[in-house]
Amino acid sequence: MCCMDTHSILRNLRRQASEMRLLEQARGYAAEYIAGMRSMPAVPDARALRGLESLPRALPEAPTDPSRILEMLHRYGSPATVPYNGGRYFGFVNGGALPAALAARWLADVWDQNAAMHVMSPVASALEAACEEWLVSLLGLPPGTAAGFVGGTSIATLCGLAAGRDELLRRAGWDCGSRGLPGAPEIRVVIGEQAHASVYKALGLLGLGRDRVERVPVDGQGRIIPSRLPRMDGRTLLILQAGNVNTGAFDPFASLLPAAREAGAWIHVDGAFGLWAAASPLHQHLMEGAELADSWSADAHKTLNAPYDNGLVFCRSREALAAAMRAAGAYFVFSTERDGMMYAPDMSRRARAVDLWAALLSLGRSGVAALVEELCSLAGLFGRRLAAEGFSIQNDVVFNQVLVTCATPDLTKATLALLQGSGECWCGATTWNNVPAIRISVCSFATTEEDIERSVRAFVTAREKALRG
Ligand SMILES: *Cc1c(COP(=O)(O)O)cnc(C)c1O
Repeated sequence: MCCMDTHSILRNLRRQASEMRLLEQARGYAAEYIAGMRSMPAVPDARALRGLESLPRALPEAPTDPSRILEMLHRYGSPATVPYNGGRYFGFVNGGALPAALAARWLADVWDQNAAMHVMSPVASALEAACEEWLVSLLGLPPGTAAGFVGGTSIATLCGLAAGRDELLRRAGWDCGSRGLPGAPEIRVVIGEQAHASVYKALGLLGLGRDRVERVPVDGQGRIIPSRLPRMDGRTLLILQAGNVNTGAFDPFASLLPAAREAGAWIHVDGAFGLWAAASPLHQHLMEGAELADSWSADAHKTLNAPYDNGLVFCRSREALAAAMRAAGAYFVFSTERDGMMYAPDMSRRARAVDLWAALLSLGRSGVAALVEELCSLAGLFGRRLAAEGFSIQNDVVFNQVLVTCATPDLTKATLALLQGSGECWCGATTWNNVPAIRISVCSFATTEEDIERSVRAFVTAREKALRG
């Protein structure tokens, strides 16, 4: 220890903890960031990236002054962020952060609550219980459905499939939680050819295998073709999709679920961004029949625009989810209230439900519907405007995703590269039906019609430049 002894280090920390100075400083930076957000480039430019090199390389021996830490974060970190709330970011499926949810999260960070058990945080428990009830109703899920609050859809899918695997095996007389998979009856896994990468990851983690799945052919939009669904039985996990990451298409649930359910299969729906369609009278037809599933996964940090780290697993059978997530320890104190760790793979967790609760309350039922409808309507506008400028739209724009190509694959790639470099807006690349395409996801409440117009102009300019070589 070069300059301070242990005692003075701790004394300093305790003093800082009782002062508002650092939080005020952070608030000032946040205000500057918010004021500049809309004029930032859609992704950090070369100068902003070089700034990151000014951050300390090695962990210093001595404590760093907290005020200096915040200053570094703002000076070098803020410009190197990707402003999802700036209105012109259409990459992946990244939502923005609703104002009430963001502010609630600040407060929750000061609370620093652990949502594992009621005894650790009665407020986290109460807010989780409220969110569970609201979401089950909002999304048209069966009454009594349990919700687990997890990091994202990848984990949510892992949880839903773990519950399904264990329940199918339990019905076959095998306690998977105790005995594991070796020697267990075979479980079949049936998924669409367009299942998301996270589904394969979950299957790998669960010992069900990424490659031993039965893949069902899909149509030109990526939807499972019902007549190609193999025979279902009581040893089958059927994994469907609400919202294809490229086209936004939904599997035809009403044609798939009744028979699968009748046969005793466990049905999971990956609805990372699409499950929210159920909250909109205009779009809920896309989800028709999905309520017959056994488990569902969704991200509140996508379509709902809650801040990051807000994944949701829903399970029709509360017991099945709790059984798969069970943990026992002499020092645990389970209560008659909600103990969040019963429905999630982790024990210690931040109180995610605080920001989710604020997001839902700040929108209300009609606000959630309005948000979903606005994202979809702006995606439709984006597609029509690009088509009017001579671009080809490769998908039926049924939700918030648009797939765009130019006259030739080379022109598509060159146009996208110039678009990404323009800082005007940012879209990702994909391949659809073996052809390179530009992928647009309208997913932030911050995006306006003007943002779409400006982005369309950026597309046109990028293509002109690409044509000139
Ligand atoms: C985003 C997404 C996922 C993964 O969700 P994470 O929150 O990133 O873990 C899974 N499936 C679909 C369809 C998605 O869009």
